[in-house]
Amino acid sequence: MPHALLIKGAKGIGKVELGLMFAQSLLCSATSETGIPCCQCDACRWFEQGTHPDFRLVQPDSLTAVEDGKEKEGGKKPSREISVEQIRELSTFTNLSAHQGGYRIVLVHPAETMNTNSANALLKTLEEPSDRLFFILVSHRPQHLLATILSRCLSVAIKTPSIEVGTSWLKAQKIKNPDNALALAGFAPLLALQQSDLSEESEEINSLIAEIQIPHKFNALAVAERLQRIAPNLVVHCFQQWCYDLASAKLTGRVRYFPDKLDLLVKLSSDISSMQLLRFQSELKIAKRESFHPLNARLQFESIFLSYRQLFASTK
Ligand SMILES: [Zn+2]
Repeated sequence: MPHALLIKGAKGIGKVELGLMFAQSLLCSATSETGIPCCQCDACRWFEQGTHPDFRLVQPDSLTAVEDGKEKEGGKKPSREISVEQIRELSTFTNLSAHQGGYRIVLVHPAETMNTNSANALLKTLEEPSDRLFFILVSHRPQHLLATILSRCLSVAIKTPSIEVGTSWLKAQKIKNPDNALALAGFAPLLALQQSDLSEESEEINSLIAEIQIPHKFNALAVAERLQRIAPNLVVHCFQQWCYDLASAKLTGRVRYFPDKLDLLVKLSSDISSMQLLRFQSELKIAKRESFHPLNARLQFESIFLSYRQLFASTK
């Protein structure tokens, strides 16, 4: 067994869930031969209640707030980073021996949200491995981790499940239009499930998709006004996917994100030149960067939407 494991792969495919299950199976007193925790012993019960004394989950406060349903409470916004204090607080845990005489496990997720100070603090712990202390790092951006941390981890790359597996899983979760939901989430099933929970936002995004299908009637200013309530990066992201499909429909006759709109995308894209599409895509790329801290979401939307209309301006 290594002292640290890095689970990496696309966002929303179940890496944390896998890491948690692995941790639970190491702590379970009756793990099955296939490594599945029994879910009945004391250790499993503590683990599932989040009270196992030999396990620590380290994640940004913003994630904890979402899990506790407190992200909309007033006051200071919870941090999106794993702070150095969070890593330092681990020292009492990592210096003790295990309560149950087995492993002590720390799961850090998403590992790339550690800032320089917290990453260095973690590195110190990783450099002095102690017996039966085991770290699980979960990341969808491992390239943002310190090379010195990476070199101390055994990396395991998790593949995105196939479209068939993803769709049938979403169907079992009673998601409407599982094919579309999966494609919109970049084929990550858990992300698709999460996005479908954002009902207000997903309704707005669906209405945006309905509008951009008829570019000549697309009322850029009115839609920009309406959408300023939802997260700008979602709007830009949706546009990027739509434009990716327009370009793909034009060049290859196939689409990725909107499979049920293939015919329409082929028809729409036949009216625009590849050059125009490329230019619009680079505009969207810049917009995506700004969309996380927009000065004025409505103005940003207006500019994207008007450029989109402009693509079709010379056509009928
Ligand atoms: Zn168990």
